[in-house]
Amino acid sequence: MKQANSSLETGKVQCPVCKSNEIGTYFQNCTDLLYQHPGKWRLCECKKCNIVFTDPVLSEEELLSYYPENYSAYNKKRSDNYPVLIKLLRKAVRFPYTIRFGDLLSLEPPFGKGRLLDIGCGSGLIMKQAIEQGWKCWGIDVSPFAVAKAKKNVPEATISQDTLEGFATETRFDLIYFSHVLEHLHNPKENISKCFNLLAPGGKLVVTVPNITSFEAKIFGKRWIGFDVPRHLIHFREDVIMQLLQESGFCKLKLRPAFFASSISESLILLLPEILRYKVLYSQAARYFYGLIIFPASVTYLMGNKSIIEITVQKPYVH
Ligand SMILES: [Zn+2]
Repeated sequence: MKQANSSLETGKVQCPVCKSNEIGTYFQNCTDLLYQHPGKWRLCECKKCNIVFTDPVLSEEELLSYYPENYSAYNKKRSDNYPVLIKLLRKAVRFPYTIRFGDLLSLEPPFGKGRLLDIGCGSGLIMKQAIEQGWKCWGIDVSPFAVAKAKKNVPEATISQDTLEGFATETRFDLIYFSHVLEHLHNPKENISKCFNLLAPGGKLVVTVPNITSFEAKIFGKRWIGFDVPRHLIHFREDVIMQLLQESGFCKLKLRPAFFASSISESLILLLPEILRYKVLYSQAARYFYGLIIFPASVTYLMGNKSIIEITVQKPYVH
């Protein structure tokens, strides 16, 4: 595995968006806090376009080894079979968010039914929900674990192990769901343009990314869960992602926080080893902290917590 090198000092680091060499340091000595893979990375900031990115850049093959089989997105399960009490508690946790921002992802009109592409489909939960509501679904994921699970969970969908760059189809989609994926990819500009080309005129893109200008990011610093080094390659500010989408030809429809109530408890777990001087086993500590902090954390949405942002944009009918 690559280690952080002195590429910044030698001036070889290039912005992945505007290709400028005017690069500053955002954070030094970042490590894989979630899975403790070896290595150190630096977060760099482009002085020209303000994008923040992880350096050194790992190849797609190298990056795959940083996604273990127990990576959370590959193991999401449906909540249908949860006990009634758990279902009620989940609703209660979401209540502050829904009274301010409405439902979580709604696949009903104004999105309507049609062809949906889920990029980074994980275990296929969104496609399952969409198919039940009358959508025809396609899904891609780079992980063989995720693709195997999604094919089992959603046999009706067309699922392939593919990158967005490598995904070739004649189909044009009415909705592309691109949630918690763009920050994992090397070329944000090219990937947003690819989404634009894959959409039918009037088609919509829902993109969800961590927002480094949020108060959570400021409070937790490099131990904020949204940085997730080295899996997150690009770290977006709200205005930077919006500008990238608009430069690709999209029109803005909506920007709101995405619901992710466990982000505060997960960041606290990542912070704990520094405070308590011992290592907290992530999976065990997560359950405890999640239960303890989830209700006060959910109230932060009423106060405008935008640690993760969900942006809905539309491809114009004529451009
Ligand atoms: Zn740049």
